[in-house]
Amino acid sequence: LTGFLNGRFAPLADLQISVLDRGFLFGDGIYEAIPVYNRHPLRLTEHLRRLAASLAAINMPNPYGAEEWAVWIQQLIDQQRFVDQSVYLQITRGPAFPRNHAFPAVTEPTVFMFADELLPPTSEAVANGVAAVSSDDIRWQRCNIKAISLLANVLLKQQAVDAGVAETILFRDGLLIEGASSNILVVKEGVLLAPPPSHLMLTGITYDLVIELARQHNMPLEIRPISEATVRLADEIWLTSSSKEVLAVVSLDGQTVGSGQPGPLYQAMYGYFQVFKNEAMRL
Ligand code: PMP
Repeated sequence: LTGFLNGRFAPLADLQISVLDRGFLFGDGIYEAIPVYNRHPLRLTEHLRRLAASLAAINMPNPYGAEEWAVWIQQLIDQQRFVDQSVYLQITRGPAFPRNHAFPAVTEPTVFMFADELLPPTSEAVANGVAAVSSDDIRWQRCNIKAISLLANVLLKQQAVDAGVAETILFRDGLLIEGASSNILVVKEGVLLAPPPSHLMLTGITYDLVIELARQHNMPLEIRPISEATVRLADEIWLTSSSKEVLAVVSLDGQTVGSGQPGPLYQAMYGYFQVFKNEAMRL
């Protein structure tokens, strides 16, 4: 696997950074994960826009313009064996000494990328849905920033793994927020409900795409705060992310969701998503 570090491509095993990197010492950095189909990145413009917003939110200049990013990313993609990939990129505030929480006077960012094989959900997961557990959202108040400091998300995701399920759905103050590494939407009485983007959640590129597809296909849609009770009584629960596309959650905390099978709106949306993807990616 070929990686990218500060303007240079090399085998991943040959890339090294300083132990003083603020990404390592403080989790001081941001990242993106971009799905790639048939060597075409999906929604690259939107991912680069969110990257720029995350950098601005932590007061870091963007090391590259959008066009430069696109060139580096395509070069990375073209050097991999797999045609379907997940491109991971991260930018940290770089090495600094002495260790000090505050920003260093001079910043040399560390820009790192790699691509791995994209494994979309199995046909079994698409056909039968997945299970989830729920938890109180223990994260900070700036979840709109795609920060590499993911300890809370790590602990929350492990709750799902320990329970033998796919995801942990997060509630804060009685409201649905998102998943540990996904966004969550629900269906009630034929209406798709999506929680409104705020500083408490990461607005997924897939979440935005699903909302766009719902509008295009005249699926009834409301973007509004969703109570925990509404989620527990939902007819359908959907999970979205760049690697999982759209999946139906058919069990929450051991309770059956709706009919216990992926619902009719899910099946419609899954179809819209595949058509969109295949057209966009020239498959
Ligand atoms: N929320 C969180 C906390 C995430 O980590 C992710 C992505 N892994 C998402 C939502 C989904 O975002 P996207 O659709 O852009 O992958």
